[in-house]
Amino acid sequence: MSEYSFFNSIQGYIKNASNSTSVPSRVANVLMQPKNEIIVHFPVVLDSGDTKIFKGYRIQHNNIMGPYKGGMRYHPSVCLDDVKALGMMMTFKSALMDIPFGGAKGGVKFSPKNYSKSEVGRITREFTVALGNNIGPSYDIPAPDVGTNARIMSIMMDQYRRTQANLKTHYQQAVVTGKTISCGGSLGREQATAKGLVHCILLWAKDNDFDMEGKTAIIQGFGNVGSNAAKLLSKLGVSIKAVGDHTGYVYNKEGFNVHSLMKHVVSTGGVAQYKNSAPIKKGEFFALDCDILIPAALENQITALEAPNVKAKLIAEGANGPISPEAEEILLQKNISILPDILANSGGVTVSYFEWTQNLRCEKWDVKKVNSKLESLMKQAYQKTVNIQKTEGIKCMRTAAYAVAMKYLSSSMLERME
Ligand code: NAD
Repeated sequence: MSEYSFFNSIQGYIKNASNSTSVPSRVANVLMQPKNEIIVHFPVVLDSGDTKIFKGYRIQHNNIMGPYKGGMRYHPSVCLDDVKALGMMMTFKSALMDIPFGGAKGGVKFSPKNYSKSEVGRITREFTVALGNNIGPSYDIPAPDVGTNARIMSIMMDQYRRTQANLKTHYQQAVVTGKTISCGGSLGREQATAKGLVHCILLWAKDNDFDMEGKTAIIQGFGNVGSNAAKLLSKLGVSIKAVGDHTGYVYNKEGFNVHSLMKHVVSTGGVAQYKNSAPIKKGEFFALDCDILIPAALENQITALEAPNVKAKLIAEGANGPISPEAEEILLQKNISILPDILANSGGVTVSYFEWTQNLRCEKWDVKKVNSKLESLMKQAYQKTVNIQKTEGIKCMRTAAYAVAMKYLSSSMLERME
C-alpha cells in the first residue's frame, strides 16, 4: 500500500474529473496547486505565564469565482499537505454549489482540549494578528471546522476588526462566518452542514426507493456535523446504533437517545462510557450491520483495511475526505453508494455565504428563509451531479460532483484566458 497523501488524493479526483469532461489540461494544471501557502509562527502567553510558539496555516487555493473561503481547523494533525487538500476541495465545493466564493483552508497545529478557554481565545487572537491582511471580507473569509466553533469565529472577527480602521464595521463583520448570532452569525448556520447532508440523503433515498423510517445509521465523529446529523436522522425515524469519536466507539443495538448522548458528550468531552452502551473497537464499528454510515470526523478514516467489511448501503460523507481512493474502489465494487463530501457537506459553506451576504447588506434573515434557500441549493447541486453522471456516463458520484464544478470553473477561466 502506498503512503497516503490527502493532497495527492484530491489531485487525483481533479484529474479524473478533467478526463471525464475533456477540460483542457492548462485549466486542470492551474487547479492542481494552491495560489498561496501562508505559514505563520506566533507566540502566545499561557495561563502559567510561559510563552509558547504555535504554527498556523492558511492555504488560498483559488479565487477566480470570488473571495477565498474555508474553515479554520484546530487539531494536532493539522499539516501543510492536509490544508492544501482541504483548500482545494473548497474551490470545487463552492463551484458545485454555485456560490461566489473560491477555496481556502487553514488552522493551527494544537489540541484545543489541552488548553483553557482563555488560552484558546488568546491563540485565536494571535493567529488572527499573524495572518494580518491575508484575511478580509472581500479577500479571504474563514469559518469553523474541526476543533473550532462559533465562539472562536466571533473572537477571530473581533480581533480582525481591532486591526482595521473604525469604518464600515458591519462590512468587517463579514471577515469570518459561522460566528455566534449576537456577533453577526446567521440563524441556521450551526446546523447547516448536517441539514445539507440530510437533504442529500433524502434526495438519494427518493431516487433509490429507500424508505428512511426504521433504518439504522452509525456515525463517526459526534461534534457539530455528527451530532446534528444524528438529531435530524432520529427525527426521521432512523435509529443511531453506534457512534465514535476521539474518546472511543460505543454501540447500542436498540439505538441511542441522541439528546441524552449529546448531554453526556458536553459533560464528559466524548462518547466513551455512555450509559447503556457497549464499547467497541474502530474496526468493529465500521463493520457493523447498518443502512447508513456517516463519517463526520477526519480524513482517511475508511481505508482499504476497513472498506471490505463495510455493510452500509449508503455512505454520506459529513467529513472531508473520509474515504481513501483505494477504499472507494472497494466500496463501489460492493455496490455501496457514496454521497461525496463536496456535495454532501456543502450546507456549511452555503449558509456561510448567506451569513456573509446578511453582514454585507446589514440584514437578518429568519431561519425559515435560510433553511429553504439551503434546501433549494442542495437540490440543485444534487440534480446537476446526477445529471452529469448520466450524460457523461460517469460511474462514480464523486467524479461527477467534481466534473460539475470543473466545467463551471473551466468555462470561467477559459473566457478570461482567450
Ligand atoms: P468538530 O470539532 O465539531 O467535531 C469533530 C469530531 O470528530 C469530534 O466528535 C471529535 O471527537 C471527532 N474526532 C476527532 N479526532 C478523531 C479521531 N482520531 N477519531 C475519531 N473521531 C475523531 O468538527 P466538525 O465541524 O463536526 O467537522 C467534522 C468534519 O466535517 C470535518 O472533516 C470537517 O472538515 C467537516 N465539515 C465541517 C463543516 C462545518 O460546518 N463544521 C462543514 C463541512 C465539512
